[in-house]
Amino acid sequence: MKILVINAGSSSLKYQLIDIEEKNVLAKGLCERIGIEGSNLQHTCVAKGLDKIKIEKPMKDHGDAIQMVIDALIDPEYGVISSMDEIGAVGHHVVHGAEEFCDSTIITEAVMKALDKCTPLAPLHNPPNIIGIRACQKIMPNVPMVGVFDTAFHQTMPPKAYMYALPYEFYKEYGIRKYGFHGTSHKYVSQKAVEILGKDAKDLKIVTCHLGNGSSISAVDGGKCVDTSMGFTPLDGVPMGTRTGAMDPAVVTYLISQKGMSAEEVDAVMNKKSGVAGISGVSSDFRDLSKAAKEGNERAQLALDMFTYQVKKDIGAYAAAMGGVDAIVFTAGVGENDASVRAAITEGLEFMGVKIDPEKNQTRGTVDISADDSKVKTLVIPTDEEMMIAIDTKRLVDAQ
Ligand code: AMP
Repeated sequence: MKILVINAGSSSLKYQLIDIEEKNVLAKGLCERIGIEGSNLQHTCVAKGLDKIKIEKPMKDHGDAIQMVIDALIDPEYGVISSMDEIGAVGHHVVHGAEEFCDSTIITEAVMKALDKCTPLAPLHNPPNIIGIRACQKIMPNVPMVGVFDTAFHQTMPPKAYMYALPYEFYKEYGIRKYGFHGTSHKYVSQKAVEILGKDAKDLKIVTCHLGNGSSISAVDGGKCVDTSMGFTPLDGVPMGTRTGAMDPAVVTYLISQKGMSAEEVDAVMNKKSGVAGISGVSSDFRDLSKAAKEGNERAQLALDMFTYQVKKDIGAYAAAMGGVDAIVFTAGVGENDASVRAAITEGLEFMGVKIDPEKNQTRGTVDISADDSKVKTLVIPTDEEMMIAIDTKRLVDAQ
């Protein structure tokens, strides 16, 4: 079965066509500037090994974008299918499923209504996801569609992990609690880790570290998420590229009541001007930070130290929460590529059986970087959220 995976943003739309039996990406691409002047589609036909092409054409809405994607996929030269009928199902990335969705789901009208209920919790992200689903339904009315939620994997957390110690009514009336994000990535790499370790998922305690521009850490016990570092929003947890991560919430009220900042200004600072970029004054990109730190920039080094310290603390906290840890997994841009960050995070964790091999740590791709005598396995596993969406889509369509 060929599955089209769609990730719709407000003015962009990413797609991949995946042959799910072979686990192969046949084609992929991106529509940019939807509804704005300069709309274009960038398309790569992976199956034929062709270079990326760029087609500039006005796209007034997501419907136009989806139509352009289909046209590219069936194009005799750079397409990979002969007609739209070859698309067996569509998997949609959806950011927030709140408590409504604890697994991916076949999209029905009832699901669309439930999705609307989740929107206040992700007012910037869910609406374009919903628009993307509607556009696909219009063009492919008979093709089954599946919603895959960034929050769903974390819905197995127990109340003691997801509740905030606010008045209980705030949870009941406003839905204020920890939801967690990057769930599709944590699910994918934890399942891959189980495969690599060759054991039953129920016998494994895994800490997954998704370290990219946004970062989150999850505790996965017996295949189920029991805790995660992001919270009500993706601002919580470890410091990120430009986001603060966790801090005393009283800082917010102090800045508003004592320093005259508006709530919007504080929000913008916490999301866009903080994190390793705010500390270093150099960049949100870890390559720039490492370079600057090597050249003696102390604030760049401080930013790196703060980041690796907090990730290390979360690993320790989650080992304590699960009563042990069998494997630590690194993934996403920083986790997959930055050996020095992985070394700094795992340094000093020998007391809990974590020891990495410095040479293996330099290797790229899916790799076990543990020292031979390490009790805990440390793995690097490239994440693949699109493949996870396709796998879930197939599972749900088959079960229909
Ligand atoms: P992601 O959000 O997963 O796409 O990750 C993006 C981040 O990965 C970038 O901001 C970089 O900081 C980081 N990154 C990508 N490649 C490398 C690399 N080779 N070394 C260190 N960091 C990297």
